[in-house]
Amino acid sequence: MLIALWAVLGLVFGSFGTVAAYRIPKRESLATPSRSYCPNCSTTIRAAQNIPVVSFLVQRGKCRHCGERISPRYPLTELITAVLFALSAWRFGFSTELFVYPAFFWTLVVLSVIDLEHRLLPNRVVYPLFLIGWAALAIAAFAASEPERLYDALLGMAVFGGFFFLIAFLFPAGMGGGDVKLSFVLGTFLGYAGGIGFVVVGMFLAFLLGGVVGIAIMVMKGGDRKTMVPFGPFLATGAAIATFWGQGLIDLYLDRI
Ligand SMILES: [Zn+2]
Repeated sequence: MLIALWAVLGLVFGSFGTVAAYRIPKRESLATPSRSYCPNCSTTIRAAQNIPVVSFLVQRGKCRHCGERISPRYPLTELITAVLFALSAWRFGFSTELFVYPAFFWTLVVLSVIDLEHRLLPNRVVYPLFLIGWAALAIAAFAASEPERLYDALLGMAVFGGFFFLIAFLFPAGMGGGDVKLSFVLGTFLGYAGGIGFVVVGMFLAFLLGGVVGIAIMVMKGGDRKTMVPFGPFLATGAAIATFWGQGLIDLYLDRI
């Protein structure tokens, strides 16, 4: 029941996420116009035509007004957000984390979409995520009478962020400043969720996924480093998988050695 409810919430927030990811890099207001509009003909999309995923399928991926194709990344973003919200409900049950982590994942989805399109992780998103994230986790820790988890968050931040900071320092061309800043945030949330083990899993997965996909694209497109894929989405994916299945992956690894 809770999982279904959070999935629906995820669709709604995912829809807002696509708006945020579209408007933030253009420095447009998130509040006005309050309605979504077609990026091609600027026709305002009426509420009845703005049902997440469903409207896209009904309209066969085209703007009703001008017939311009609408990118499938909009319904995809909504679906991914819904899945992340549903998994949060499954993982955390009814707790303060159930409100903190979906907000965290929502922001990661927005950042990933922006990074894929513009190859940047805007400070205007990463800094508030860091500050609000710490405030929210502090509230969650004290609400659950587990203030010691904030030490795990601090340690996670130092390890994940420190590691990426070191990489960026040693290989300045290999890693963007946005990736380094985001890594401090990811370490915080992973450390809080499951301690240093989750942090290591998240870092490992980010490099694994980024490496595999990066090599695959280089092979297929025959590109060089210029065609390299942005790293933000892999950092986000690694963090999400570590949050939900970190313990299972750690156990799996420990059983093998
Ligand atoms: Zn249109």
